[in-house]
Amino acid sequence: MRGSSPRMTGKNRPDRPYITQMRPQDILMPVPAGLCCKPGRFHIDPVRPVERAVITHGHSDHARPGHGAVLATRATLDMMRLRYGDNFAGSTQAIAYGETIKLGDVTLKFHPAGHVLGSAQIAVSCKDTCIVASGDYKDAPDPTCAPFEVVPCDVFITEATFGLPVFRHGDAGDEVKKLMASVALFPERAHLVGAYSLGKAQRVIALLRAAGYDAPIYLHGAMEKITRYYESRGVALGDLRPVKGMRKADLAGTITLAPPSATSDIWTRRFPDPVTAFASGWMRVRARARQRGVELPLVISDHADWDGLTATIDATGAGEIWVTHGQEDALVHWCTAKGLAARPLDLVGYGDEDEGEAMPAGEDTEA
Ligand SMILES: [Zn+2]
Ligand SMILES: [Zn+2]
Repeated sequence: MRGSSPRMTGKNRPDRPYITQMRPQDILMPVPAGLCCKPGRFHIDPVRPVERAVITHGHSDHARPGHGAVLATRATLDMMRLRYGDNFAGSTQAIAYGETIKLGDVTLKFHPAGHVLGSAQIAVSCKDTCIVASGDYKDAPDPTCAPFEVVPCDVFITEATFGLPVFRHGDAGDEVKKLMASVALFPERAHLVGAYSLGKAQRVIALLRAAGYDAPIYLHGAMEKITRYYESRGVALGDLRPVKGMRKADLAGTITLAPPSATSDIWTRRFPDPVTAFASGWMRVRARARQRGVELPLVISDHADWDGLTATIDATGAGEIWVTHGQEDALVHWCTAKGLAARPLDLVGYGDEDEGEAMPAGEDTEA
């Protein structure tokens, strides 16, 4: 394993006798199946089937079917069931935010990650050392899920999807106002908003409602199940209708949410002269928007931006930072310059749901 030199260990707590300290890499370590906790005999967000999986959130690259036992929040388990069917795991156990559970020699506690409904950071404590695996997270407000919680720890494992200083997402509410302005400007055209079907779509709808948009919002078939699930968990989303069966002319002046890949497919022919929008943190990059043929880029991300990542790392008080899936180098460099021990984790198998590539087969079909 990389970076397992002794200088990486215990640096943040020099006052404690080393006898009560465990080296963090003895608690959690990256293996091909994912992050492995040997003393607890489980993996976090495993990318291959394992005996016991602890899962941060429902996105398909983190929550995969075929594990023996799965420990996750109720919402994450429900989303896995919706997506994969009742037999997605040998057994399941739901855990609430703030609840503690002992597995082998370690104690686990779940905290909100602010990423999507049910998303959790997992604090893994063994003896005197606490490691927080944050999965995907954002510190920006989101009406559709519990707000991100700062969890003090010794080692913080952070994502780096937007780990470059150029990424500053701004206020998602302003982006939704751009969409509403476009609808007002082009009443004869349909607006087709590409948004990942778990989390992003519901957040865009909730932001539209918060901005006062109360007309029906239309859904691509792939969005329906998960969106209805959000509603069943108390997230109010207003008047939602399936777009299927609508007459083309009746879609003028309306907003439809669809998976990102559907917005560049022949499926769009059912809409009158559609304005194609795309809600993603990547829309900060003009070239990406152009490349995808996006007419109306909306910078709305479910991941922390550069300021969010660095502020969160600071706030945890962790002396050691492990950086995973995304643009690790700049963030590792930033940490090192601040005197923190930091290294990339080199975990593989985590896609970027913002690009829509992580969508499982069958969810992205004509509907
Ligand atoms: Zn995610
Ligand atoms: Zn991810």
